[in-house]
Amino acid sequence: MTETTTTTTEPRPRILYPDSGPEPPYPLRMEGTVISGFGRGSKELGIPTANLPVDAATTPWIADARSGVYFGWASLALPAPHPDSATASSSPPNSNNNNNNTNGTPSSPQTDATQTQFQIYPMVMSIGYNPFYKNSVRSAEVHVLHSFGADFYDAPMRLLILGFVRDERDYSGLDALVEDIRIDCDVARQSLSREAWTPAQGVVGGARGTFDGAWLVRRGEE
Ligand code: ADP
Ligand code: MG
Repeated sequence: MTETTTTTTEPRPRILYPDSGPEPPYPLRMEGTVISGFGRGSKELGIPTANLPVDAATTPWIADARSGVYFGWASLALPAPHPDSATASSSPPNSNNNNNNTNGTPSSPQTDATQTQFQIYPMVMSIGYNPFYKNSVRSAEVHVLHSFGADFYDAPMRLLILGFVRDERDYSGLDALVEDIRIDCDVARQSLSREAWTPAQGVVGGARGTFDGAWLVRRGEE
């Protein structure tokens, strides 16, 4: 059961869970605003991780979650100036760019999230412990499986976590770590590409499936 240092040649399955779709307790939800991480240089490794604050009140399940790597879908509400934003960059933020959401309470902190369209991407993430809090508080960081034209700190992000990939491991060197993460990404892509795992709402650059991902793209607080 205890997995310590791995040999990189150990075969790992690329498809996890049945084709029929996610099973309880999944999907698990999480949402927040992308914050600065621990400065571990994940971007330099080619694996940037968008860190989310862990709010025990809105994610009660996380206290007992197994530490390790998970996969699922992330949605991001990128502001219009961002190169990957779905919101037309040619129109100013408050123009009539056919968003028919209610326009009340302009000073509400939800305003940005409700006026900017959420776009769905596949992701792998780790749930662990935050070194800033002497490893007593959970941490969550998400590697989005997409090549972005710019960073997206402060962007609203939602997660539907659909499955567990593996436990945390100790590595003898950086190469073994990067190789394992590369496989995690492959596992996520392949497992998520099945019809019953793919949101009916559509994925950036991908097909539509039958999985209900409405929560990822909903506007407002429904
Ligand atoms: P930090 O320690 O601040 O989290 P990272 O090196 O982990 O720094 O980089 C994370 C940041 O990189 C994210 O907050 C996001 O703005 C940006 N980023 C760019 N591409 C991605 C991606 N594919 N997945 C996650 N974050 C990305
Ligand atoms: Mg990070």
